[in-house]
Amino acid sequence: MALYNNSFYPLFGINSLRGQRGQRWADLVDWIGKLPGSDPHVMAFTMTIRRLNRLQSEDRLCPDPFCAVCAAQVVALFDGSEQELLDFYYNNLHEVQSTIRNMRVREVVRTREVVAA
Ligand SMILES: [Zn+2]
Repeated sequence: MALYNNSFYPLFGINSLRGQRGQRWADLVDWIGKLPGSDPHVMAFTMTIRRLNRLQSEDRLCPDPFCAVCAAQVVALFDGSEQELLDFYYNNLHEVQSTIRNMRVREVVRTREVVAA
């Protein structure tokens, strides 16, 4: 089971999370659930849930790195459409990807400085 290699759990929470919006949201949750926890898409998804939680007045997330039961509650309280939810996720994904790219560029620059010295 791919889900056990991931930080997404428990299964009944995932089922509730994927049922919060339409088919595209469900497909995204299914796909994210198969990726390793270190994948940028998983990081972006976790960031999306944390930011949605912060936009709401009460903190509903437990201390677990990713608990699908709490995530489902946070998404349920989001009053935007499925498209707005997906847009929010993709914005966070671009942020994660550009942060990773910048980290790699800084590493290359540092390596060159060491070689040149
Ligand atoms: Zn929880």
